[in-house]
Amino acid sequence: MRRNNTKRVRVGSIFVGGGAPIAIQSMNNTDTRDVEATLTQIRALSAEGCDITRVAIPDREAALALERIVKASPLPVVADIHFDYRLALLAIQSGAAKIRINPGNLGGADRVAAVSHAAKERGIPIRVGVNSGSLSGEILQKFGGVTREAMTESALQAIHLLEENRFDDIVVSIKSSDPLLTIESYRLLAEKTNYPLHVGVTEAGTIREGVIRSAVGIGTLLAEGIGDTIRVSLTGDPVEEVRAAKSILRALSLRTGGIELISCPTCGRTEVPLIELAERVEEAVRDLPYSLRVAVMGCAVNGPGEARESDVGIAGGKNEYLIFRKGIPIRKVSPEDALPEFLREIRLAGEEKSAEEKNDKA
Ligand code: SF4
Repeated sequence: MRRNNTKRVRVGSIFVGGGAPIAIQSMNNTDTRDVEATLTQIRALSAEGCDITRVAIPDREAALALERIVKASPLPVVADIHFDYRLALLAIQSGAAKIRINPGNLGGADRVAAVSHAAKERGIPIRVGVNSGSLSGEILQKFGGVTREAMTESALQAIHLLEENRFDDIVVSIKSSDPLLTIESYRLLAEKTNYPLHVGVTEAGTIREGVIRSAVGIGTLLAEGIGDTIRVSLTGDPVEEVRAAKSILRALSLRTGGIELISCPTCGRTEVPLIELAERVEEAVRDLPYSLRVAVMGCAVNGPGEARESDVGIAGGKNEYLIFRKGIPIRKVSPEDALPEFLREIRLAGEEKSAEEKNDKA
């Protein structure tokens, strides 16, 4: 897949843009002033595979708490600021790895200058975060409402405000809650700038609906080579955002590693409780350190064939299951033993594959 050639920026230990792997972001929903709760959630996000997290800085206390969060965080921490440039300055002092602002609503050119100078001094990037809900009255009037042109113009104006201060360590986002508008806006923006793009569908919804809307919006753009870092916004535990982001990247082969689980939809041939088994396997393999494709299939007639590309699989029969490797049956197991035996086989396959990869490298 060809990806757009964007400028590379550094967010703490993570590079964004310029061909770097697409970074997964999330945002804490803890009270930033509660340092322990925020750090606990950051550690959970990190364990799930998040690359960068963001915290809200609604007041001075939160901006000061950020210092302790940054010091103990395993992830680069981005400070999210609206309106108050003094909070942006404090967050930069507190060690934010990046700040997210909308330069247009900081209250004037001198304030944008102060923030961009402080960010430059600390060597941190600024994300210009335009949302469809916060376009200026002037822009809305010029374009007759929230359109892709209005979103893009708003982002370009914000970029210009920073560039006027010789600041070009920039990441841009133009999110909308409408996946189609998001897609069209990013397409247009990508034609007009080579700053790295943070892609997401904002306020996407609850976990079920939000994952689908995000997969459509983010997935379409990534498939076109647009996007350097992504966030799936969900009303729920942010750890779910990271899981969904990983799935989107895996679906497009933009991230490898970990277990890729495929399972059949079941049909009239299924004679085992496959849905339950697939869910239990999904839960059990989530944290395994192997890079494997694993299949859970409903019948032994079509299952192994349908999952031939998998490293290891299991197919239901009549009161028994068949375990197979690369589409070739290796042994039958009872329904009671199906889960533990299958997991044992997955670990075995994982160890073998890791050993092969080590040998290849040597
Ligand atoms: S693998 Fe078997 S049970 Fe599953 S959908 Fe295909 S034919 Fe049906």
